[in-house]
Amino acid sequence: MYSEITGTTKLIALLGSPVSHSISPLVHNEAFQIKKLNNVYLCFDVNKEQLKTAVEGLKNLGAIGFNLTMPHKVAILDYLDDISPEADLIGAVNTVLIQNGKLIGYNTDGYGFFASVKEKKSLDTIKKMTVLGAGGAAFSICTEAALLGIKEIQIYSRTGLSLDSIKNLGEKLEKQTRCLISVSSIENTDSLNHSISCSDLLVNTTPVGMEPKKNLSPINDFTCFHPNLFVSDIIYNPLETVFLKKASEVGCETMNGSLMLLYQGEKSFELWTGEKMPIFEIKEKFFIQ
Ligand code: NAP
Repeated sequence: MYSEITGTTKLIALLGSPVSHSISPLVHNEAFQIKKLNNVYLCFDVNKEQLKTAVEGLKNLGAIGFNLTMPHKVAILDYLDDISPEADLIGAVNTVLIQNGKLIGYNTDGYGFFASVKEKKSLDTIKKMTVLGAGGAAFSICTEAALLGIKEIQIYSRTGLSLDSIKNLGEKLEKQTRCLISVSSIENTDSLNHSISCSDLLVNTTPVGMEPKKNLSPINDFTCFHPNLFVSDIIYNPLETVFLKKASEVGCETMNGSLMLLYQGEKSFELWTGEKMPIFEIKEKFFIQ
């Protein structure tokens, strides 16, 4: 938030339910203050039935834009005037820019994930990745991976609707990029272990291990983990999940989801303000690993 709310302060919002745990207001308001931008970022607990009127309200009130979190990332597609190519492929939007009365949708999650990976590992060293889970975050990460030139992705999830829809995304991505994408059941442990043993990057996108069920891990066999495997969990609460702890114990370099959170916000900030987020200051203040 800029040091004073004035008659010209502009609004940026987060719409979702729940939203009270979000650290996005701290991050964006601190960044507005540092950059002297007369904006304020506020969270609104909005359920599915309220989404349409909330979006119309923001548009009519001249808001700059908004973020979306659960359960609105897909439902928002019905209200957009335009969509970025990535968000269109992913089929989900986490950032909306309101420009000349038009709603333009973006998805910054995949950008955020790979910006965080790049801090620890050169992307050139990642030829193959294994992904656990096939929900919204997996869609974003797999799309960005394919667009960034990663050659092979194997996705493992429970059999269900999400598995079928990620198969469709995989087929679309394979046509547009040269990435080979396969999708299998997470119960197929032989296939999963083989995939992990020849991967450079393993990422957990399931919520398994997140508070309050922090004693769980999406997989329990770590024998196929190897020292060249970089292991990431996009969960950031707790900072070290059981999955990351076990991976670290068998000698893998690991990374939690907090920097993904930072960098997806950085990209959204840039879309709304046309300015770079003061990343060093924000990282120092809120994201010490
Ligand atoms: P989502 O759309 O609900 O997807 C979750 C995926 O995990 C689905 O494929 C789901 O399978 C699978 N799954 C759930 N429970 C499972 C279990 N017990 N065993 C195996 N697979 C299971 O959620 P999302 O939006 O992708 O978010 C997933 C996680 O990422 C959450 O913890 C969220 O907080 C985190 N996240 C972090 C960031 C960040 O910036 N760090 C950004 C986005 C999300 P079914 O479809 O069968 O249920």
